[in-house]
Amino acid sequence: MIPVTKPFLPAEEEYNKYIHAIWERHWLTNNGPLVNELETKLKEYLKVSNILFLANGTLAIQIALKALALKGEIITTPFSYVATTSSIVWENCHPIFVDIDAGTFNIDPSLIEAAITENTSAILVTHVFGNACDIDAIKAIADKHQLKVIYDAAHCFGTKYNGQSIFEYGDISTSSFHATKLFHTIEGGAVFSKDPLLAEAMGLLRNFGHTSPVTFGSVGINAKNSEMHAAMGLCVLPYMDDIFKVRKEQWLHYEAMLKGKTGIQLLKLTLGCEFNYAYFPIVLENEKALQKVTTALNLQYVQPRRYFYPSLNTLEYIDQSKCAVSESVAERVLCLPLYHTLKKEDQDMIVKVILKNC
Ligand SMILES: *Cc1c(COP(=O)(O)O)cnc(C)c1O
Repeated sequence: MIPVTKPFLPAEEEYNKYIHAIWERHWLTNNGPLVNELETKLKEYLKVSNILFLANGTLAIQIALKALALKGEIITTPFSYVATTSSIVWENCHPIFVDIDAGTFNIDPSLIEAAITENTSAILVTHVFGNACDIDAIKAIADKHQLKVIYDAAHCFGTKYNGQSIFEYGDISTSSFHATKLFHTIEGGAVFSKDPLLAEAMGLLRNFGHTSPVTFGSVGINAKNSEMHAAMGLCVLPYMDDIFKVRKEQWLHYEAMLKGKTGIQLLKLTLGCEFNYAYFPIVLENEKALQKVTTALNLQYVQPRRYFYPSLNTLEYIDQSKCAVSESVAERVLCLPLYHTLKKEDQDMIVKVILKNC
């Protein structure tokens, strides 16, 4: 079986060493030493101003929305995982979908201004597949209209934009460290902000709003993560340079075999983006071709995934609107298997099956 992704696991003994120390300390959660160590190491590794390690990437978005006290309409992308939209709705805000660029699959900044109304409070968009949004254009629009910006950077561990971590952009960036992501803590996520006051406010929100054991400064939630999860992060982090190196080779190998083939569109990288090679999406000619390719791959025990389908503007629980590009891409996109132990021969076989059936 060749799945779309396979979580990276360190040697069992390495994890067990951390687990043994947790048993000795008897400190399992609530801002424990491993959570602190992971935050410190991630801050150094990523060269970011502030980071808060959280229970998952969905709570990260919800805390970001809450910390900025956003209300009303939030401009967002229809081409992302459902958590981007559901978090907006969960926080009682109204998602306004703006269509994507047909090449980068990120929000098309030239369409944003037409969607701004007096009720718009923010732009919350995803750097999809680890490829940067047009951050400069989005910032210019946000500044002009005094809107907050949140980036869902769940795919972006290691991505840089104009030379610095992509997590440094926007009022807040969020990420996911779920097992399926490039860097993972089994379940986990984070929020990033250059603004120390915002970071502090999110720290309170993460822990029930506790300002002391007996005082509460705001309506908080429990978004803390545990020592066991931090331990996994501490085990995986030292492997990241190697993971990036292998991932880039695998990605370029797919690209070399698929570039310029009729009926197959590849991801166009954004100018200024230093890519992390997180995903390898292909966009086929139509949904029928996608189904044919999927069936043929499944026969070889290969499981690509429809990242991302459906286009989020078509969800049943929101006021639907039309996003022609996103809907079209969502109908035709497949992410190919990409994980640390994927073999070159398997990539060759996958591409052969695709080219024969598309
Ligand atoms: C994975 C993902 C999330 C959610 O992260 P979890 O850690 O699974 O809660 C949010 N947004 C995007 C774009 C994702 O891919």
